[in-house]
Amino acid sequence: MKKKEKILISVEKSLLDSKREVSLKINKKLRSRNIKSFDVMGSVGAGKTTLIKRIVESLNNRVGVIAADLTTTIDKERIEESGAKVVQINTVKMCHLDGNLILENLENFKDVDVLLIENVGNLICPAEFPLGCDKRIVVISVTEGPYTVKKHPYTIIGVDVVVNKIDLAQRMEVFPEELKKDVLMINPKAKVFLTNAKNGDGVDELVSYLMG
Ligand code: MG
Ligand code: ZN
Repeated sequence: MKKKEKILISVEKSLLDSKREVSLKINKKLRSRNIKSFDVMGSVGAGKTTLIKRIVESLNNRVGVIAADLTTTIDKERIEESGAKVVQINTVKMCHLDGNLILENLENFKDVDVLLIENVGNLICPAEFPLGCDKRIVVISVTEGPYTVKKHPYTIIGVDVVVNKIDLAQRMEVFPEELKKDVLMINPKAKVFLTNAKNGDGVDELVSYLMG
């Protein structure tokens, strides 16, 4: 191996180690406070915010939410309607959250039972940045077309999946059961939930799995 390659590999490895270290630190802190935590990923328009609102509404627990967005506070305001304590992180030009941003904000969530993180709308790089949550959930909407799971295999590894907007499936000619099959092909351990976050269909099942 050339010297340059060796250096590159070791830089990459140490980056990976530091991400993992931060993520472990976050999880340890949350667990020590008895807080269950979930990182919600998915494309822009998949329905992350609506789903989070539904989850908050169906819980009898004190819920905190970190809402990440590039510049606006639209999602923060929407989620606050559900009664959760919401902290906004504006990432400006950054297309994902990283663990350090979460770590910095944990002091805002001392008195909650559940912490939900709405990641930046993006199906690609958030996967590479673990945020120390108990579970990672990827929300996929049938409106993203039939190939969205197949095209993002790295995002499907190590997560559970919500196929959302199933009320539009027929119209979109995208079949939730097919998306589910695609998920299980990549990640046989994944739990897959079919929801319509708008009217709440399927959300109870998801919530009992998360809280179980
Ligand atoms: Mg949103
Ligand atoms: Zn990114």
